[in-house]
Amino acid sequence: MKQENHQLVALNEILEATPVAAVCCELETGQIIYINTTFTTLFEESLETYSSVYDWLKSKLKQGVFQQNIKPLREQRTASELSLCLSTDLGNRLQVKLSYEVLADKEIWYFRNITEYGITERRLNARSEMLEMVAKSSALEDILEILVRQVQYEMPESICSVLLYDKDAKALMLGAAPDLPHEYNSAIDGVKIGMNVGSCGTAAFLQERVIVEDIFSHPYWIKYRDLARMAEVSACWSDPILSSKGELLGTFAIYLRKPSRPSYKDLKVINFASNLASIVVESFLAQEELEKRAYFDHLTGLINRGYFFEQCESILDSSTGAADSVSLVMMDVDHFKSVNDLYGHKTGDLVLQTLAQNGSSIFSNEDVFARIGGEEFVVLMPNVSPLQAENKAEALRKIMEKSWVLSAEKQKVFVTVSIGVAHKTEGYCSVDELLSCADKALYQSKASGRNCVTAQYSSSLPILL
Ligand code: GH3
Ligand code: MG
Ligand code: MG
Repeated sequence: MKQENHQLVALNEILEATPVAAVCCELETGQIIYINTTFTTLFEESLETYSSVYDWLKSKLKQGVFQQNIKPLREQRTASELSLCLSTDLGNRLQVKLSYEVLADKEIWYFRNITEYGITERRLNARSEMLEMVAKSSALEDILEILVRQVQYEMPESICSVLLYDKDAKALMLGAAPDLPHEYNSAIDGVKIGMNVGSCGTAAFLQERVIVEDIFSHPYWIKYRDLARMAEVSACWSDPILSSKGELLGTFAIYLRKPSRPSYKDLKVINFASNLASIVVESFLAQEELEKRAYFDHLTGLINRGYFFEQCESILDSSTGAADSVSLVMMDVDHFKSVNDLYGHKTGDLVLQTLAQNGSSIFSNEDVFARIGGEEFVVLMPNVSPLQAENKAEALRKIMEKSWVLSAEKQKVFVTVSIGVAHKTEGYCSVDELLSCADKALYQSKASGRNCVTAQYSSSLPILL
């Protein structure tokens, strides 16, 4: 008996010196004999109300997880490690590796805290997933939602939001806030930045972190208290999201139900979130810009030559039936060289921008309007009759004739355009065939004195309208 006591004391000492949380129990009954200090510190409890670790785990885990993992562990007396997620009584979520050992008539439960490791791993996964989504051009809202969910996972009491800065409107637009009420998000969407515009509007305006511990007593929130009451939030810490060049991209905010001050650990989470948001938003905008450059003409904003060919090919490929009519309108500015010579290149550019803008007003969403060369524009019109296409071409000519811009010397500059229209004849017609046909018709318009429209079927002679 004395020897047994000695053995137990020795075992307790060993467990106390073990760097992981450990509990020793009677194997037969499960009765708890010893709990080390690491355990009580980690779980913030000493299991006084439980008859065994087994019962304690039963109360902590979902029934399925318990049945599948803990029951067999004890029945088979295995020693393999199990990953578990456990919440403490104070609401902290812990990720632990559980191992179980039988020593003579005792069983020992070991809990190794891997929360930090788990969070780091989950963060890395979130980061890769987000960057992968940027590369795949997923919607920015979906990408940012992953960040919001990650932070909410790390801080279970928090509700997060990302707002994006609209430079032109000087306002914050909703990015991702899946767990704030819809009414709250709608009210915040489009809010102009400035002093006393809640935590986010002020953080964006000052371009610095704003910590509001109690919304209902802070001057920044006076105008927004009712909204906060409706959303049932009492604290809001907001960080500006800045680009690598220091430009404002948006805000990352953490809301809490109760008035709260951020701990050192919370501040580290905010740093992580706003840094990652910055990388992701900046990468997204750069990707968007690249795509824009790949498809759009930088001067007029119309689609460019390459993208026009792509669109045209796909429309022509699916328009081979007898009832499929497709027309292509080609427009070239008359004597454009003399506009540049007389008024300068800048005025010339302004003419091209104005023509693109005014021309767009007469085309439908189905029409594909593009700038394919210096002062050459084309419009592909699917599903219109040859007559409708010719009428639109004539309307285009008239609108161009009336368009004007002011030169640097404040002179009104007018131009005219010559237009060639090609109608696809039955069966398949390639983009090159249709373009070459429109080009011939356009040449005819130029030869006929300019400022007119000529139409032609892809297999016949041109008809001057
Ligand atoms: P035509 O009636 O026969 O078409 O005469 P044109 O002067 O319009 O034709 P030409 O092909 O001789 O000249 C086209 C001019 O368009 C020459 C070039 O400087 C100008 N141009 C091409 N691209 C741009 C551009 O992006 N901006 C400006 N401002 N001018 C451009
Ligand atoms: Mg030309
Ligand atoms: Mg020209």
